[in-house]
Amino acid sequence: MSPKLANRPGRWFVYSLIGLFLFLSLSITLAAILLLRRGRLPRTGLITGSSMEPVLRGPRFSWTCPDCSETQEFGLDTCKSHQPFRCRWCGTRDPKSAVDFEADANIQERINPGEQVRYATLRSMRSIRAMEIATGRAQPSGLVRGDIVVFQESQSAKREVKRAFGFPAEQIAIESGDVFINGERWCKSLEQSLRQSILINAWEGAELAENGGSQKNQDPSWVFTDRAFEGVLSPDNIEPKENASDSQTVERKLQFVSPKTHLDNQLQLNAHDSHAIVPIQDFGFAFQVMTPVASWEIHCQMHSPVCEPEIAIEWNGSEFKLKYAEESAISQSIPRTDKPIWLAIAMVDGYLVAGSPDEEWFRTKLPSKVKDTAIENRKIQYPIEISPISGNLKLDQLLVFRDIHYRGQGDSESQVWEPGDRLVVLGDNVSCSSDSRDRWPDGLSTQAAKGVVLQVESPMEVLLRQRR
Ligand SMILES: [Zn+2]
Repeated sequence: MSPKLANRPGRWFVYSLIGLFLFLSLSITLAAILLLRRGRLPRTGLITGSSMEPVLRGPRFSWTCPDCSETQEFGLDTCKSHQPFRCRWCGTRDPKSAVDFEADANIQERINPGEQVRYATLRSMRSIRAMEIATGRAQPSGLVRGDIVVFQESQSAKREVKRAFGFPAEQIAIESGDVFINGERWCKSLEQSLRQSILINAWEGAELAENGGSQKNQDPSWVFTDRAFEGVLSPDNIEPKENASDSQTVERKLQFVSPKTHLDNQLQLNAHDSHAIVPIQDFGFAFQVMTPVASWEIHCQMHSPVCEPEIAIEWNGSEFKLKYAEESAISQSIPRTDKPIWLAIAMVDGYLVAGSPDEEWFRTKLPSKVKDTAIENRKIQYPIEISPISGNLKLDQLLVFRDIHYRGQGDSESQVWEPGDRLVVLGDNVSCSSDSRDRWPDGLSTQAAKGVVLQVESPMEVLLRQRR
């Protein structure tokens, strides 16, 4: 062996060095990819409270009042041990309902288990919304106003969900049920509003036949194929009028009946408290129709304590025509489809909006929000009325929903935050939610935010899921 050769490192040594290097770099790359993926993957979490119950459905507790026998449901986290419930209908406080929630096995059985949510980490939201962040439509943190945020106050705390409303350097205010950002009323898109709407009632399978009494069997205008809903024909018009001849038009309406007068903000009231019940001014309805069917025309009238818009809707086989007041009318063509489509009409944030759940077609300003005592005194029990004008419309689904009516701390109608570098979060279930109003009057730390709940369903599916 020559000395020259002896000084050369062995061939195998060089190979194993290269091999080791390749192995190490491959492992590091793999680990990095795995870590990165883990940050991007949606996570799953349990809904622990009822703050966001209308949209996410958390645990519920059902209780029947011994005095008036009304069964009512409360969010589990509003039920405090050893405190009697207060009936929302008759006001009775039932001492027997003051029980230990942790200990009472019977009660545990009546509690529906919580549900899971899927959420994306803030890091992945930042990459998903890179464009929006660059153009200022999203916060640098990756959040957008109205997001359902998953947050955790400390390492040992439970993860919770609430809606993000206020961001650093903003002034947030609640006033008469609405949220104001830097003095401006927050106006949602139709889709956003549907996503956070609270379902009040739903019907299935109502058929709207041609109006008028000329048909042989005097078919009622609305035929219900299922008895489970509470829609009624206008009481005067259930039976044809005594002297009505065949040629006379019998006026019929489908009226959504609210138990008292106007729609109110009752949902899951706090189990032990009574909060102010106020008439709701922001509500709407949506219906599902098969598009290929022949033409029809209906009139819809909405009654809120401040205004009573009347909307004419016409379908001519390929396009919708919507008309509200003389000056505002639109036509919207719909591509021919065999699938049923949804049409939604709502009064929201001072506007009358209409469209399909994911596309807004129509938006016009409603008269400004001044309580009209004349309307209010009429105590209308029918917030929504639909009258057939012509044609035959089968409604597969009809949903009536309302917007969230925000209140300030306690029963106060207003509250203002200037959270500096922190967040303002509110729950949709206003009566039960413990949020920025009482828990973090100075705001919630931005570090507590962990992710954004992914809403994979369409806004209509979210509403349908609220059906009990
Ligand atoms: Zn009662």
